[in-house]
Amino acid sequence: MKKAGWFFGVFLVLTVLAALFFKAAPYNRKFEKTEFLFDTTCTVTAYGKGAEAAVEAVFERLEEIHRETDMFSENSTVARFNFAKMGETIDANEDLTKILETAVEIGKHSNGAFDVTIAPVVQLWNFSGDGRVPSKSEIEEKLELVGLDKLVFEKSGRLGKNIDGVMLDLGGAAKGYAGDEAIEVLKNHGVSGAVVDLGGNITCFGDNPATSDGKWRIGLQKPFSPTGEFDDVVEIKSGAVVTGGTYQRYFEKNGKKYHHIIDPHTGYPSHKEYSSVTIVAENGLLADCLATACFVMGKEEGSAFAEMFGAEAIYK
Ligand code: ADP
Ligand code: MG
Repeated sequence: MKKAGWFFGVFLVLTVLAALFFKAAPYNRKFEKTEFLFDTTCTVTAYGKGAEAAVEAVFERLEEIHRETDMFSENSTVARFNFAKMGETIDANEDLTKILETAVEIGKHSNGAFDVTIAPVVQLWNFSGDGRVPSKSEIEEKLELVGLDKLVFEKSGRLGKNIDGVMLDLGGAAKGYAGDEAIEVLKNHGVSGAVVDLGGNITCFGDNPATSDGKWRIGLQKPFSPTGEFDDVVEIKSGAVVTGGTYQRYFEKNGKKYHHIIDPHTGYPSHKEYSSVTIVAENGLLADCLATACFVMGKEEGSAFAEMFGAEAIYK
């Protein structure tokens, strides 16, 4: 009787300790959610106390940024700008202003390899639909509308155009910015660590409870691998890993592949000896713009360009 009581006592203490441990170990709690946004699959994974509420708040913020920057949704600020005539001005909100500040800076320094005014040419190719190969004269005509000198952008957020028909395409920058804003929301909610994957645009911060050193391991996909296998891994504590490539979005016509990264100097998909560029940088917006810029610039020039911004370019 006495012995059984002793055992029962120990059992009770252990049960209470275990319950306390799991209650006091919010560190390991994980919440993950996936939604289709920015024309891609977006997954947010957060660890720690309040992870679920944090992830829900992230998706609200992502939806907000998507609504503002999507050129295909009629009411977005970008669409209103694209419909505007020369002489009209549009007030870019804070998000759009921040995106454009970096996009224009990268655009100017890359000698036009990255250019958010590429929209009229991108539309000709209809990558978001079935794809179409435009004629040379169509491309030449639309290239007349491309160039940052045709965009009026003041730091105050005032946006205008120097000629009718100038349009913005933030497809190469908005997801990077959205990844950064997602991290802000997660930090403000006090989660212990998180990784945000917006269709291959990765941002992360804090502790990864699944690794002994707390680092995040980001797999780099082998280009055109049917199984999506990884052939490289980047390990980071925080920051962004963004890949731009020919295998993510392309169409085939008459046995030829046409992918969605356009060389603004020619109006045609940029063809090089590699299939993808991965940028490792301190934030997602910079990494996203650099990925497209470095893809168009080429290995040698692009690698040096990324370094100028404290980033690394990995060509595959
Ligand atoms: P995604 O992550 O969606 O694959 P990327 O970040 O690789 O997109 O950027 C490609 C997108 O950016 C294209 O779909 C197009 O909308 C736009 N784009 C294509 N070429 C350029 C360019 N030279 N400069 C800026 N934006 C571009
Ligand atoms: Mg990009």
